[in-house]
Amino acid sequence: MRQVLVVTGGSRGIGAAITRAAHARGYAVCVAYARDDGAADRLRAELPGVVAVRADVADPASATALFDAAEESLGPVTGLVNNAGVTGPLGRFVDASAATLRRVLDVNVLGTMLCAHEAVRRWEAQGAAGRIVNVSSRAAGLGSPGEYVHYAASKAAVETFTLGLAKEVAAQGIRVNGVAPGMIRTDIHATAGDPGRLERVVGRVPMGRAGEPAEIAAAVLWLLSDEASYVTGAVLQVGGGL
Ligand code: NAP
Repeated sequence: MRQVLVVTGGSRGIGAAITRAAHARGYAVCVAYARDDGAADRLRAELPGVVAVRADVADPASATALFDAAEESLGPVTGLVNNAGVTGPLGRFVDASAATLRRVLDVNVLGTMLCAHEAVRRWEAQGAAGRIVNVSSRAAGLGSPGEYVHYAASKAAVETFTLGLAKEVAAQGIRVNGVAPGMIRTDIHATAGDPGRLERVVGRVPMGRAGEPAEIAAAVLWLLSDEASYVTGAVLQVGGGL
């Protein structure tokens, strides 16, 4: 059966690496992105057949539109990677605005839940066994003081959601897992306001270097694959020991 994968935030960074790895393994992929049409166009040109949909995962209408678009273009969706995520500006919790707190929770937590809801609802109706991988962060276990406590808390919610949903749907053959990246070389640090963040904090990483997006993609693809057939409710830490 053809594997059809939805990757949120699939146009740049870790999501683009997941899309490349999935495409190379023969998956049909539909990515969602928020704003950057240019990045989505470049990915479509690089990977023929990849479908890109501009859809804000925090919008309750987006998940249905995204899955409809994926199904119409590629066929029934068999896997979902909830990768879209934002940090808000770096800084102390007390200085974060209410709008930042709401946006981070809306994208990271509500967005993940809405897409998972849509996937499980469809798989239950079809009697299908799907796979979900939620992208968390090592921040969930570290708390990220002085940088983005609210972001860390949102990723802790993603991890607990992963655990509970995995148990709830395990008997239907649906597997739900997570990957918690450490410090990975993407634009997210510049977007948070500190382009030099990786160089500044890499000394905290036991392996002594930042990770590459492809190293996260490899873990995600393994969890999606049949090699992980007995793995559900797990959150795999991919942080060089962080
Ligand atoms: P990134 O380089 O900033 O890329 C983010 C991607 O998500 C882009 O494709 C972006 O689309 C999309 N996106 C953002 N908000 C969205 C929304 N509301 N709806 C749909 N798509 C949205 O980020 P990244 O570093 O690859 O991070 C990917 C995931 O890994 C996130 O969940 C992040 O929290 C997690 N993570 C990253 C690191 C790290 O060090 N990089 C570490 C731990 C965890 P546009 O291009 O249109 O903006």
